[in-house]
Amino acid sequence: MRIETDALIVGSGSAGLAAALTARSEGLETLVIEKTDKIGGTTAYSGGVMWVPNNHLMEQAGIEDSTLRAMDYLRNTVGNRVSEERLLGFVENAPRMLKKLTDEGCLQVEIFEGFPDYRAEVIGGVLGGRSVEPKVFPGRKLGEEFGSMRARKFSSPVAGTMTELRRLAVIKTNFFEALKSWRVFTRAVFGKLFGSEYVSSGRALTSWLTFSAKKNGITFRLKHRLVELIEDDGRVVGARVEDEQGERVEIFARKGIVLAAGGFEHNAELRAEYLGKHAAIDRSSGSEGNEGDAIESAKAIGAAIDLMDDAWWAPTFMVPEVGPQIVIFERGKPGQIVVDHLGNRFANEAQPYNDFVKAMFESLVVNDEMTSCFMVFDQNFRDRYPLATMMPGITPEKHLKSGFVRKENSIKELAKSIGVDAGNLVSTVERFNAMAVSGKDKDFGRGDFAFDRFSGDDIAKPNSCLAPLNRAPFYAIEMFAGDLGTKGGLMTDESARVINQAGEVIAGLYAVGNCSSSVMGHFYPGAGGTIGPAMTFGYVAGMHMAKEIK
Ligand SMILES: Cc1cc2nc3c(=O)[nH]c(=O)nc-3n(C[C@H](O)[C@H](O)[C@H](O)COP(=O)(O)OP(=O)(O)OC[C@H]3O[C@@H](n4cnc5c(N)ncnc54)[C@H](O)[C@@H]3O)c2cc1C
Repeated sequence: MRIETDALIVGSGSAGLAAALTARSEGLETLVIEKTDKIGGTTAYSGGVMWVPNNHLMEQAGIEDSTLRAMDYLRNTVGNRVSEERLLGFVENAPRMLKKLTDEGCLQVEIFEGFPDYRAEVIGGVLGGRSVEPKVFPGRKLGEEFGSMRARKFSSPVAGTMTELRRLAVIKTNFFEALKSWRVFTRAVFGKLFGSEYVSSGRALTSWLTFSAKKNGITFRLKHRLVELIEDDGRVVGARVEDEQGERVEIFARKGIVLAAGGFEHNAELRAEYLGKHAAIDRSSGSEGNEGDAIESAKAIGAAIDLMDDAWWAPTFMVPEVGPQIVIFERGKPGQIVVDHLGNRFANEAQPYNDFVKAMFESLVVNDEMTSCFMVFDQNFRDRYPLATMMPGITPEKHLKSGFVRKENSIKELAKSIGVDAGNLVSTVERFNAMAVSGKDKDFGRGDFAFDRFSGDDIAKPNSCLAPLNRAPFYAIEMFAGDLGTKGGLMTDESARVINQAGEVIAGLYAVGNCSSSVMGHFYPGAGGTIGPAMTFGYVAGMHMAKEIK
């Protein structure tokens, strides 16, 4: 079969949907193919937060930012690992992308309240405003199509924005702060009464974008997998695609093909080749369709690749019957520490997740083998905060029976249970407890940074990230080096065009999101640091294709 369109978008995550909406809005006939039977990719599993420096919501809220300031931040963090042109391409276009999508009614967003950049202390960093999140989406808007939207295996029992859910996480210690999130309860009641499901975070993002895409006449073909690219006279003109019966379809795209097919987190061979053996595949929280197909197909026609040895790392619990669950804000909460196989702390637990896993690789790999590490906490911590799908204070018996959660009456017994030296763990806890009382983590500076404190809880004084572990029983959960997906892929220029190994543009071919090598280099700038750039370069690719025909 042969199909023709103006723009072919491969993949239906945030990068692909932003590219599709932009191309369509600029007048192009647009087709999205998606390998799996669901729309949304890893984006649908995500928090849905977009890092968009200098965005129009900041201006409305009176938060200062500028292109120069954002460039300062990225120069000081990403450094020269990524070209100045690409960095500027991101910084200039990110606010344009958000403005266009919101002005055209494709997306409703708000600022993720008070979320600082991950290195807010660096010159150019800000204490909030750049991280933007989707508003809650009422599923009924999508009608029957709602069933085609990808959903997480486990999600919060109530639908709320990240701002709302973060407030709820301290309901046991700061009831009045949690009360500000009253809307989550009215949504729950309204949803029950009228049989309508509300979705939030990444699922809301993909739902808003898909709703608009369908309304604007963008065609979707699910269970259609890109297999190879078709070239003609040095230009990519189409793609060979396989449907679920294994039938080949040739799709020709008059204006361009945008590869938005995610990373290679679920391709065991590519992981082994590029990420090594310490980052196990089953600890990835990425969407299962992401097997590096687009990277391989573009490589086959000479595309260059970069950053393949890196991922968007996140410390992860392996929850029985659920699978990987990333551990983000919990590490900043007072009353827990993370210790290595000897019972020693090895890093600031509260630091951004990407950096924490890098610290895990540095400290836990011994004789080329990854050793274990555990989050250790006391009953106060368990009573106060949600953790790994568990509500505050409720530790299901099945988790104790399976050994996922270890619970003992003393630190000594807990040490035995997790196989670390008891004397060592006892002295680690004693030292930590003394520092918690003083409010200063002399070993790793936990609580010294804006992001740490954002994850903390003001109930703990004088340092909102520190409280002694002093109330039995004591608990431990093993923590693993996991990922949200990979960040290496096809090299692109500031217009999202794929570059070949000679450094030249491959005409007609664009790559965006996790199948392109990240504009953030080895850095993770702030919440939304993957989806912000993915959507920005999706927008850039859409605009570029449209400009080519004007
Ligand atoms: C729990 C969790 C929370 C996260 N929270 C955030 C957050 O709040 N903010 C943030 O910035 N990042 C977050 N991330 C990371 C973020 O979700 C991803 O980096 C981002 O969504 C990737 O977007 P993408 O469009 O490149 O890929 P995806 O969203 O993964 O989409 C790729 C799509 O391409 C499809 N595909 C693959 N191969 C083919 C093929 N051959 N043919 C056709 N289709 C194909 C896939 O099936 C998939 O649907 C989070 C991740 C997780 C797991």
